[in-house]
Amino acid sequence: MIRLDDYIPIVGPAVVGQLYRLAEHLGTHRLVNINSTRTGGGVAEILSRVVPLLNQLGIETLWEVIEGDQLFFETTKAMHNALQGQKVYFSPEMLEHYEQINRTNAPKFNWQADLVIVHDPQPAFLINEMRSQAKHWVWRCHIDISRPYRSIWKFLQQTVSEYDASVFSMPRFSQNLEHPQYIIYPSIDPLSEKNRELSPEEIQAVLDRLGIERDKPIILQVSRFDSFKDPLGVIQAFRLVRRHTPCKLLLVGGEATDDPEGPKIFAAVQEAASGEPDIQVLMLPSDSHYEVNAIQRAADIILQKSVREGFGLTVTEAMWKGKPVIGGAVGGIVLQLQDYYNGFLVHTPEGCAFRIRYLLHRPQLGRRLGQVAREFVRDHFLITRTLRDYLTLMILVENPDSRMFEL
Ligand code: UDP
Repeated sequence: MIRLDDYIPIVGPAVVGQLYRLAEHLGTHRLVNINSTRTGGGVAEILSRVVPLLNQLGIETLWEVIEGDQLFFETTKAMHNALQGQKVYFSPEMLEHYEQINRTNAPKFNWQADLVIVHDPQPAFLINEMRSQAKHWVWRCHIDISRPYRSIWKFLQQTVSEYDASVFSMPRFSQNLEHPQYIIYPSIDPLSEKNRELSPEEIQAVLDRLGIERDKPIILQVSRFDSFKDPLGVIQAFRLVRRHTPCKLLLVGGEATDDPEGPKIFAAVQEAASGEPDIQVLMLPSDSHYEVNAIQRAADIILQKSVREGFGLTVTEAMWKGKPVIGGAVGGIVLQLQDYYNGFLVHTPEGCAFRIRYLLHRPQLGRRLGQVAREFVRDHFLITRTLRDYLTLMILVENPDSRMFEL
C-alpha cells in the first residue's frame, strides 16, 4: 500500500508535514464524496487516489456513486454538454426523470457527515432530499462552465445555491452565486499505476501485447471518445503532417459508464481513420492505467486537442512523463501549458499540425519542454496539493467567518 511518507522523495518533507498538521487541526471528521462513475474520466481518477490518502490522514472518507438508467445518463451527458456551451433541448420528462433518479438514490447512502462533496451535475439534486443529514454540502464542478447554455444553468443554479460553497477548477468557471466559491486545481498521483516510473522492458511488453510498433515517431492522444476532445480534429491534423513527415497516430480511449455518447464517437473516429495504416485506434478497458502509462511513456509527442476542457488530466500525465505536449487553448489546459515554455497551445487542426511538425523536426526542443513540464507539474499539479486543498476546504467551510488559522 502507498503511504503518505512515500511522497516525501517527490515533493519534500515540508509538503507532507503540512498535510499531517492540517489533518490534526481538523481532528475526527467524516467526509462523503459522491459522483457518477467509479471508472473512466478524470473525476474517478482523482477520487480513486484522494480517498485512500485522506483516510490515511485520519479523515474518514467515503466515495459513493449515484446509480441511474440509460435515460438518466443520456440526460446528464446532455447537461454536461450544455454546461460546456452546447445548445441542447431538454424535455420536461428528461428533467423530471433526472430529479426522480436523484430522489430514489438519496436514501441509499449514509449522509451523516461533516461534509458531503457532490461532484458535477449528475448527483447535484441529492441535497434537496438530504440537506439536514450532513453538516455541510459543497458542489464540486469539474467541467468548463465558463459559457453555459443558460436554460440548463438556470435549472441547476437554484439547487446549487443551496450548497454551502462551490468549487471550480479555475477562476473563469466561477458563477453568479451567493455562497463562497473556491478554486481547486485537479492533480495526478505520481505513484499510481497511471503515473509511476516504468522500465523500458515494461513499456515494450505493453506495446508488444497491444500490437503497437515503434517504427515511426508516435503521436498520441488519450481520451474518452467525446466530441469536446476533438478526435476528428486530431486526425485532420495528423493527415496534414503525414503528407510531409513520417509518423504514426495513436488514439487511445476507453469507456466511461456515465458517458453514453462514447460508442457513437468511437464509430465516427474509426470511420475517419479507415484506409490510413498509420492511424491506430485503441479502445481499452477503463481500468487500463498501467497500459496507458506505458503508451504515454512510449509516445514522442502527446496531444490533447480539446475544444472544451475542465482541466485535462491527460495533459498533466503527459507533462509529468517529460513529454512535449500540444494542447487545445481551452479550459484548464491553459493553466498547464505555456507556449515555448513547457509545451504548445493550439486553436485549430492546422495549428496543431504545424506544432507537430515543428516538434518532429526539433527533438531536442521537445526534450527540453518535457523537462520543464515535469517540474511545472511537480510544483503545481501533484496529489499532495489537492489533499492540502481538500483539508483546507473542510476547515474553511466549517469556519466561514475565520480568515486565518494557525498550524
Ligand atoms: N483515461 C484512461 N483511459 C482512456 C482514456 C482516459 O485511463 O482510455 C484516463 C486519463 O489517463 C485521465 C482520465 O482518464 O486520467 C481523463 O481525465 P481528463 O481530465 O483528461 O478528461 P475527462 O475524461 O475527465 O474529461
